[in-house]
Amino acid sequence: TKKDMKGFFIRNAFVIFTVAAVIIGIILGFALRRYNMSYREVKFFSFPGELLMRMLQMLVLPLLVSSLITGMAALDSRASGKMGMRAVVYYTTTTIIAVFIGIVLVLIIHPGKGSKDEFTKQQQIEQVSPADAFLDLIRYPHIPLLVHVKITVNDTIFALNGSQEIAREEMIPVPGRVNGINALGLVVFSMCFGLIIGNMREQGQPLKDFFDCLNEAIMRLVAIIMWYAPIGILFLIAGKIVEMDDITAMGGQLGMYTVTVICGLLIHALFVLPTLYFVITRKNPFIYIAGLLQALITALGTSSSSATLPITFKCLEENNKVDKRVTRFVLPVGATINMDGTALYEALAAIFIAQVNDYELNFGQILTISITATAASIGAAGIPQAGLVTMVIVLTSVGLPTDDITLIIAVDWFLDRLRTTTNVLGDSIGAGIVEHLSRHELQNKDLEVGNSVVEE
Ligand code: ASP
Repeated sequence: TKKDMKGFFIRNAFVIFTVAAVIIGIILGFALRRYNMSYREVKFFSFPGELLMRMLQMLVLPLLVSSLITGMAALDSRASGKMGMRAVVYYTTTTIIAVFIGIVLVLIIHPGKGSKDEFTKQQQIEQVSPADAFLDLIRYPHIPLLVHVKITVNDTIFALNGSQEIAREEMIPVPGRVNGINALGLVVFSMCFGLIIGNMREQGQPLKDFFDCLNEAIMRLVAIIMWYAPIGILFLIAGKIVEMDDITAMGGQLGMYTVTVICGLLIHALFVLPTLYFVITRKNPFIYIAGLLQALITALGTSSSSATLPITFKCLEENNKVDKRVTRFVLPVGATINMDGTALYEALAAIFIAQVNDYELNFGQILTISITATAASIGAAGIPQAGLVTMVIVLTSVGLPTDDITLIIAVDWFLDRLRTTTNVLGDSIGAGIVEHLSRHELQNKDLEVGNSVVEE
């Protein structure tokens, strides 16, 4: 009936707006492509999207700190230890499965044909030794592994407007940094700090209340920003489509490679993770995923799992009613280190580059790739294209030319969005699973968080 329809619309307004935004964004983007907008015009046009990105990024830092501190302080150290173990086991298992899927697919489909002729971009990338890359991962997860890429395009396929030669220099984003801050370092600090406050009992109460209140205030800001999110997403997507290189560049090997990555991500996101969720919790995974839709679309629009974090929190706590003690503990850590999509992608891409170079990999090298791809996904920050940059570690570990990362830059903006969505899904399903496994520890209501400050 009409009334039911209205109720349905009101309840799902956010999701409906967000889905509509994606569709309108795609249509608008393709419609505007024929006007050959300049780089500058595209930037003006997509400004509403940039605004969303910046609003979300603004919240990430206080959210990360306040949620982790209160999350840790609310649990006694035994409970947090157990929960932490479960989260780590989940992260490791799913990442390894993801890497495995990526490797199997790229070996079966074999998208690279051992000729680089199809790739006409010529680039130079700074060389980094594998040892340095590894140490830097621990030393500063935000180290600029690669800073400068020089891209000379002298091919009609890649050239815009049919001009023969365009040279541009691009700065590749710095991995590990969220707003210039070492995210992993901050996670470690906040966890230690939260544990200590928790152990201080009454004495620690003022700080607990303070961070609890800070967290609540940030979440209220998120609630406001969510109304703006569809508009931002619309322009982020439209702007990207206007700006992207000619679609014909997707033909041939690069096209096959793109298809392989998409298959891998779909298998992981729509089969492996839901199955895992179902087997452990015995609940319908797709209802759970439906509650996350807005976070997933935001990930698609922003290609940053950190920027999506505020929305992920909202979806999990409000739609899926996941215990706040779990989300506060598991989500910030997950968004920083658990990246299934990125791990799958990095292993797959490295083997693709080997195939393009006609380079036979033996079993040991494939094993090395899977280990380094896991490490590289942990080291990558939840920011756009970080995975592309930490891939240096994977390539150098088996002696593949790091310059060849640029072979796949043309399609990375697109694949980045898909792997970010997979990353966010992995973190969210992880929260559901950890909550289920920790239900006994969570029965202690005294440790409730987030209700002390606000009564609603
Ligand atoms: N953009 C991804 C994320 O934020 C990281 C990556 O580049 O793979 O999760």
